[in-house]
Amino acid sequence: MERSAQGVTPQSEDFSSWYNELVIKAQLADRGPVRGTMVMRPYGYRIWELLQGELDRRIKDTGHENAYFPLLIPESHLQREAEHVEGFSPELAVVTYAGGKELEDRIVVRPTSETVIGEMMAKWISSYRDLPLLLNQWANVVRWELRPRIFLRTTEFLWQEGHTAHADEADAMRETMLALDMYAEVARDIAAMPVVEGEKTPGERFAGAARTFSIEGMMRDGKALQAGTSHYMSTNFATAFGIRYTSEAKQLELCHTTSWGMSTRMIGGVIMTHGDDKGLVLPPRLAPYQVVIVPIGRNEQLEGVLAAARELAGRLRAAGIRVHVDQRSHLSPGFKFNDWELRGVPLRLELGPRDLASGTAVLASRLGGDKEQLVLAGAPEALAGRLDEFQASLLGRATRFRDERTRVVDDWDEFVAAVEVGWALALHCGDASCEADIKASTGATPRIVPLADEPETGTCIRCGGPSGYGRRVLFGRAY
Ligand SMILES: [Zn+2]
Repeated sequence: MERSAQGVTPQSEDFSSWYNELVIKAQLADRGPVRGTMVMRPYGYRIWELLQGELDRRIKDTGHENAYFPLLIPESHLQREAEHVEGFSPELAVVTYAGGKELEDRIVVRPTSETVIGEMMAKWISSYRDLPLLLNQWANVVRWELRPRIFLRTTEFLWQEGHTAHADEADAMRETMLALDMYAEVARDIAAMPVVEGEKTPGERFAGAARTFSIEGMMRDGKALQAGTSHYMSTNFATAFGIRYTSEAKQLELCHTTSWGMSTRMIGGVIMTHGDDKGLVLPPRLAPYQVVIVPIGRNEQLEGVLAAARELAGRLRAAGIRVHVDQRSHLSPGFKFNDWELRGVPLRLELGPRDLASGTAVLASRLGGDKEQLVLAGAPEALAGRLDEFQASLLGRATRFRDERTRVVDDWDEFVAAVEVGWALALHCGDASCEADIKASTGATPRIVPLADEPETGTCIRCGGPSGYGRRVLFGRAY
């Protein structure tokens, strides 16, 4: 086993260094040989698998089916939707040489799959009876990244992309909101990230979409992270790819399409929502190990302790708890405690000969507080309860943090102060040059127009013009 140097730069000292060191030292991921690519190590990949499982179940429960489309797309297909190609062209990786010769028709490595799926939808849909068509794919995509950051911005990342076709706008909008709500639920209930749901302003819309919605979470440095997006495409892609159906009235109509995605970026969100100076803090529902048992003892004593630790682990596993026994014999218990704290394991059990004799173990929480004696006989039930409490307290803590750093402001100086440390809810005119001016002077951008907030009108926080969205806009600095 490798022996990682323990500890990271404290979060409070330098958030960015903290993050970069942590993803490596907690063995979540490593940098790939091509700049901007990442290797997901087993510990990080397991978090992804757990998230994927939760999301996949919800995707299927709401009537969608998984399929798989090719990684390679003709460049000419991308060009059919003008805004789409314009938006993505700076990030494209293009194959120009293959099979030992120059290609006549250039091929792009998919940055997203609207075009190839649109092409197939046109082929598969002919009647209103074929609608809605509800597809999802789990895949990798490539978007050339000039300022890479592991999990947050990588040249290749993993995601799911839902693609659906509907008879009319109302049905497509229902789908768009269903996907958004599904993301908000997974973020809140599984990742313990209290996200805000809202609509993007026109400048932040997906290339080719009529309306874009997202969920935004607040990281512990006060910045926003867009953690999932859902787009209503209107008939833009249906027009470009000929996705049509014959209605009940025997009329040929264009379909209304949607797409929605959540990616490995969510892992970065989990790290930055819950982590602290000591390292990661993982929500139990995404923790590869929910409980780690550290056996303590020397020589002949250790044999008995190890046997008891394995027996306990077996009982916890049978109760559905993800548990790991740290059997590394060359490391001290103190080193192991620090190691599992760095790696964010929610609960730790210390098991020594004296504990064993009294039928107990010492229970320590990653959230701190006093250590406790845990009676081994009822350990599975007790720990399952503790894990639920842990999950709930993480969500509560993150919600309080976000609420304390979100200000409703009607004054420019207050706005500037609010986005220094968190978010500002302000009225805005909706003008692109006014948005650009706010970004240039504060670094903040309009994240979303939150859906749950009350309608409100007045004057723009920056230019004093009339407000444009009928609601307050959430501003913040963002990843
Ligand atoms: Zn303005």
